Amino acid sequence: MKTMRFQQRIFYLLFNLTFVMMIVVFFSGCAEVPITKRRGLHLVPQTELLTLSLQQYDQVLKKSKLSTDPNKVQMVRSVGQRIARASEAFLRDSGRESQIRDYKWEFNLIEDDKVVNAWAMPGGKVAVYTGILPISQTETGLAVVMGHEVAHAMAEHGNERMSQVLLVNMGGMALSLALSQKPGQTRELFMAAFGVGASVGLLLPYSRLHESEADQIGLMLMARAGYDPREAVPFWERMNKKEGSRPPEFLSTHPAPASRIASLKTYIPEALPYYQKSPR
Ligand SMILES: [Zn+2]
Repeated sequence: MKTMRFQQRIFYLLFNLTFVMMIVVFFSGCAEVPITKRRGLHLVPQTELLTLSLQQYDQVLKKSKLSTDPNKVQMVRSVGQRIARASEAFLRDSGRESQIRDYKWEFNLIEDDKVVNAWAMPGGKVAVYTGILPISQTETGLAVVMGHEVAHAMAEHGNERMSQVLLVNMGGMALSLALSQKPGQTRELFMAAFGVGASVGLLLPYSRLHESEADQIGLMLMARAGYDPREAVPFWERMNKKEGSRPPEFLSTHPAPASRIASLKTYIPEALPYYQKSPR
């Protein structure tokens, strides 16, 4: 009788410990998204993502033809740097100064008029394709694109997307283990999670939630960088018009439902004060 009770107690103790550990693991894997304050599941250590990002970014640049048009390259870099400073200001405001050192910003323009796309890998590794320039048209239009992409990166949507696939499809495998066991597939997953999938033939559209979050944060970033956030509306109208027989890659990874313009407009009043206060 006595041993029975002892076993029961041990059982309950172990049960409770497991429960507590599960909660700890769950919450330590959750991180708050700046500006929107939503909690997302981030199971992949940032250091591992940064290492992979450096390798994959170099790979893409090596395989691509970089633009040699000094004016366009300069425009991409200067808009990018202004968006980067704005994102650092938001991180500083929310007490995340330590995260700023993870960013080693790089903005490159890839020469490919057929590719209507742009993306940002962790650590601020950004690429824009010349094919998106006729749609972005101006520096402000480009700021809409860059703001949106940097917003995805800042909100760590890629980490959340990788975490979900590792958890659901790969049985909760750690990234390092997945990389050593299935290196090709894991690298493809990384590329798809950060919107670069098209180059490896794997497209993973951002969810509605991630899209609207990136729109909201993107507007705050462009406004704080000194670009009129109201310009996001005509940009998305131009992008939607481009959707025809062959939708641009940008729309395949960043789906734009009809309701997008309406919800963008609701974020503008929140973004405008940053634009009005910004040094221009
Ligand atoms: Zn997006």
